Amino acid sequence: MKVVLKDLTKKFPNRNKKIRDEVIAVSNFNIEIPDGKLIGLLGPSGCGKSTALNLLCGLQKPTSGQIFFGEDDVTNLPAENRGVGMVFQNYALYPHLTVQQNIIFPLENLKGAQKLTKEQMAAKAYEAAKLVQIEELMDRKPNELSGGQQQRVAIARALVKMPRLLLMDEPLSNLDARLRLQTREEIRRIQRETKITTIFVTHDQEEAMSISDLIVVMKEGVIHQVGKPQEVYDNPVNLFVAKFLGTPPINVFAGEVKDGKLFIGKEAVLSVKGVADKKVYVGIRPEGFVLDENGALSCMLDEVEVMGRDITVVSRHEALDGVEIRSIISADNKVEAKDGIVKFSLKPHKVHLFDQETEERIYFES
Ligand code: ADP
Ligand code: MG
Repeated sequence: MKVVLKDLTKKFPNRNKKIRDEVIAVSNFNIEIPDGKLIGLLGPSGCGKSTALNLLCGLQKPTSGQIFFGEDDVTNLPAENRGVGMVFQNYALYPHLTVQQNIIFPLENLKGAQKLTKEQMAAKAYEAAKLVQIEELMDRKPNELSGGQQQRVAIARALVKMPRLLLMDEPLSNLDARLRLQTREEIRRIQRETKITTIFVTHDQEEAMSISDLIVVMKEGVIHQVGKPQEVYDNPVNLFVAKFLGTPPINVFAGEVKDGKLFIGKEAVLSVKGVADKKVYVGIRPEGFVLDENGALSCMLDEVEVMGRDITVVSRHEALDGVEIRSIISADNKVEAKDGIVKFSLKPHKVHLFDQETEERIYFES
């Protein structure tokens, strides 16, 4: 099912009573979420991700704007009639119920024509449990399960009614690193198998990039960019998005454009046609540096970290006040420094310019 948000806004009175201004948790969202895809809703803590999910599932009412499921306006539809499955960070299982009873729970209060027999409920619970591969654990209580297994039960419970929309709010945050990787692959598989439109909330950019068909990058209640993970990584619309995606993060220098050339310090490092003279921020992805003894960008070498396939060259430059530069180079290269200076040339498509005031992207021809 396609989901459309139209001018969707949620304001809260400020929790700090001394501050009169409201908090705009979700600000004027306009977005169309395509049918059958996995959408990663990504942003730092407090940016409004959970509020957006709560509006979608009906736990909270928007201050203004509309929500459409397919062609239907569901803005005022009660939560229980929306056909939405929800998975939370803390699993929220009933401790005194078995796995099977937990999964069946959402089916028990179906009324009228939807009412199911005990056998039908058990069959549906088994199907959902099988999907997340916990059908062997049906008789256990939550405290007899690992964190990863508990989260699978929560996913099965969300799937048992075959929701039109599945919402997951930081579902992997309580798992250890290895389980987090494994469970995210599982979620991807389950989403592909069921084709249920799924919105997956996380503050972890790598997690969002690795499993999403589309990512929505937000900050302070505002959507900054929507696109395929690789497109957003390659073409960030502003400095915030550029900095939020990528590990190690993009290196941001203070620079200046003069006569179609980009200067970092006194060195002209790149031709940037079509940009008016001005001060800019220069974002360079770690993979955008090329070791080159004739390269235009000179940095002070700190150290070289060898990591098997790649090496990380750690260096400094006065245009990055105190912050270290991390550049990733294939391990085939040998790092040679003269008088402690390492020289780089740059891959133009890995270099992004941003206005120093608005932090919006400035486009150039190289
Ligand atoms: P996220 O899930 O991205 O961490 P939230 O949606 O929980 O962010 O919160 C967004 C903003 O709205 C935060 O500033 C938070 O303090 C505020 N907020 C969330 N819920 C409430 C509430 N019930 N009352 C007042 N402020 C709230
Ligand atoms: Mg949250």
